[in-house]
Amino acid sequence: MAKLSSKARISPKERSKSTETPETIKMAKKKQRKEKLQKPIIKLVSADPQISEQDNIEITIEKKLIALFDLQQIDSQIDKIKIIRGELPLEVEDIEDEVIGIETRLEKFENEKESMEKAISDKKNIKIESLALIKRYEEQQKNVRNNREYDSLTKEIEFQALEIQLADKRIKEYELKLEGISERIEKSKEVLIDFKEDLDIKKRDLNDIIAETEKEEIELEGKSKENQKLIEERLLSAYKKIRKNAKNGLAVVMIERDACGGCFNKIPPQHQLDIRMHKKIIVCEYCGRILVDEAIDQEVNKYE
Ligand SMILES: [Zn+2]
Repeated sequence: MAKLSSKARISPKERSKSTETPETIKMAKKKQRKEKLQKPIIKLVSADPQISEQDNIEITIEKKLIALFDLQQIDSQIDKIKIIRGELPLEVEDIEDEVIGIETRLEKFENEKESMEKAISDKKNIKIESLALIKRYEEQQKNVRNNREYDSLTKEIEFQALEIQLADKRIKEYELKLEGISERIEKSKEVLIDFKEDLDIKKRDLNDIIAETEKEEIELEGKSKENQKLIEERLLSAYKKIRKNAKNGLAVVMIERDACGGCFNKIPPQHQLDIRMHKKIIVCEYCGRILVDEAIDQEVNKYE
């Protein structure tokens, strides 16, 4: 079972240049981890008195966009965890159903085996009875009074001999069938063992993942709450509303190849320019999602 990745965003490896050696990547990662711990809380308003009121508003919107995009990524990770946790129990259920199916088949085979064994034993009893009759008729033949009685007993003996032959024929047939059933029982038992082993593994994985993801989810929920504090109520409720209505839970998306990363409709160049200015919060005119550019993405993911 693959360990659940906590990175919903593009990994630094994918973004890094191919000329980097594994060693430098490793060192860079170490540095990034250190920096991540020191990641400053984004301030909505600059405290620097040198910055004018107008600049203050501009910085605020850019910071809001950064906070929103960061929040989106955290919430997307939570969504992903919930999906994974929702799918695994279904997988376990499927195997449980398979196990029940095999057990039902096995029970049917066992019943068939039992009735076949009963049929064989019935035929064997018939043989015993016929043999006893033959013995009795032969004894009686020693004390007959006339030929007619003797012949009549001979006919009875012949009839019982035929009964024995017939019983032997049936016993052979049934034994062949019994062999087939026994083989199927053995096979089913083997398959059942495999499935049960698989089920045990899947159940253990499920428990591990539940424990692991619950811990991760709590951490992410905490991060999400922290980020939400950076965004004003009105904007936050808009974000939540868009997220709720979007199938993939995306309320903040990046421009990708001149199109909205949510609905993939083309964004007019002037609109794109406005988005890149970071002076207004701009939504996609088709799907209503909040749009950000690569600069915001870089800002959000620079500590990753
Ligand atoms: Zn859109």
